[in-house]
Amino acid sequence: MLNIILFGPPGAGKGTQAAKIVDHFQLVHLSTGDILRQAIADKTEKGVEAKKFIDRGELVPDEMVIGIIEEKIASHSDAKGFIFDGFPRTQPQAEQLDAMLEKRGQSISGMVMLDVPDEEVVARLQKRAEIEGRKDDQDESIIRNRLSVYKETTAPVAAYYEKMGKLQKINGVGKVEELTQQLIDLLGRL
Ligand code: AMP
Repeated sequence: MLNIILFGPPGAGKGTQAAKIVDHFQLVHLSTGDILRQAIADKTEKGVEAKKFIDRGELVPDEMVIGIIEEKIASHSDAKGFIFDGFPRTQPQAEQLDAMLEKRGQSISGMVMLDVPDEEVVARLQKRAEIEGRKDDQDESIIRNRLSVYKETTAPVAAYYEKMGKLQKINGVGKVEELTQQLIDLLGRL
């Protein structure tokens, strides 16, 4: 089993890289951001609730994302492993994820952090706003709020996995294909 957390600030390229490496390792890609955006598009109860937080650049409540991940893990009981993208983003989410995996006799194999400087993040998200039209990418103050939530609430999750000797950092600035290769090499050694 290979259970990977792709970590980093918004706009680090987690989604792009996850999509490229799932096929290579035959893993299931779980992006809480994608799942929540789908729930919003489907106008489900969860989607309506989540939208209030997402549009402001805040985190949705832990119970909601933990519930989503729990359901997804249960529905892929035959998976060879998972790439978690955008989850966990808080300490309770990390602890719950570890507990869920432990119940299945599994654990996180490693966390890879894509390092990208703030100003590069802002520039990338503003460009993505033009291409994908995501509401939370459209306003610089919302982008800056997401960055500060990342630093204050999410970044400590990396320290949690670092203490377990599971954190690897790579430079997230560079050619997409080169980064993918670097990730494949690194994950292959786990
Ligand atoms: P993302 O696509 O990963 O950047 O996520 C977009 C937005 O969805 C975030 O800014 C949060 O509002 C929400 N979100 C996604 N994943 C989580 C999570 N693990 N915990 C809380 N909120 C999340």
